[in-house]
Amino acid sequence: MKLALEDGDRPTQGKCLCCFADIHRNGNDVQARHPRYEAAVSIMVEIGDRYGQIEALSGMAKTMLAMKQINKALDYNAKALDLANNIGNKMHMLRCRILLTDIYRLVGDTRMVAEEQCRCRRLQEDMQLICRACNKCLGESPNHLEFLPCCHLVHNRCAYETTRRSSSKNNRSSKFISCPTCSKDVPKDSVYL
Ligand SMILES: [Zn+2]
Ligand SMILES: [Zn+2]
Repeated sequence: MKLALEDGDRPTQGKCLCCFADIHRNGNDVQARHPRYEAAVSIMVEIGDRYGQIEALSGMAKTMLAMKQINKALDYNAKALDLANNIGNKMHMLRCRILLTDIYRLVGDTRMVAEEQCRCRRLQEDMQLICRACNKCLGESPNHLEFLPCCHLVHNRCAYETTRRSSSKNNRSSKFISCPTCSKDVPKDSVYL
């Protein structure tokens, strides 16, 4: 931050401010984080960095949620989601919708929780973030992932299960398993373990 200030480097100043606020957010220092996110947003607006604005606005929404200020949390999250939609950033759209699900869960709006979960699922499918072996989202739990030669990702555990099942069937001698996503033959010895 010091170097960025000396150099008049606005993009780095914006990133550092956002990082400071994130550190305070994790440390539960409510007073310190909000002004830093606000300063980060104004720098991001000034330099036209919409990606940076999304990150700072999402941080503000999470801060407001932690303080149980629901309307403000919804407001900042809506702004972040709007920007994510504008630049077509599906990962940020997903993050905003996950936060939206948390907000609706907190206020007990089960209908909106279900709607947002559907939207999250569609985004995860769009980004191919679903393990087709177990149909669960990749990255939801701390499992290792397996990158198959056909470029599809599955949970390491699911790749193991698929290999084990195919070995126990009559095709014990087969050297291949079928990719759960695209059904291409994948050499067993290219998988995990
Ligand atoms: Zn899986
Ligand atoms: Zn595949």
